Amino acid sequence: MSEETPTSREKLMKHCTVTKEQGRRGDVLIYGKHKYRMSRNLANLTEEECDKVVKVIELDAYIATLKERKATQASKRKPKADVIKIEARLCECGCKAMAKPERMFLPGHDAKLKSRLRKAAEDGDAKAIAELKARGW
Ligand SMILES: [Zn+2]
Repeated sequence: MSEETPTSREKLMKHCTVTKEQGRRGDVLIYGKHKYRMSRNLANLTEEECDKVVKVIELDAYIATLKERKATQASKRKPKADVIKIEARLCECGCKAMAKPERMFLPGHDAKLKSRLRKAAEDGDAKAIAELKARGW
């Protein structure tokens, strides 16, 4: 029967780094990421008071783990993908079909347009002549 449950004071001593500060200040407890400045020295606390301190610290630690868990879950969540605009564009030949965004024409439709413009240009269509020039045809 030598296994005794540790007292709250023992818990505090075990889990916290106790550094007695200079002067009349209380102990400083460093528990994980938390740092507590006690209003009194740990040695002067009653077991009941130690119990309260343990509860506060454990609650803080518990809250911290919850926050961490939430943070890691949030980081695991897929980041909002950057919106990549893929705009299909109308084939420039005027067929009203959609060409791939990086292309101006559906395959072969540039030739269709070219021959149509040339025909129109031969008939004296100024617009067609201008478009041929603009396209470098
Ligand atoms: Zn087309």
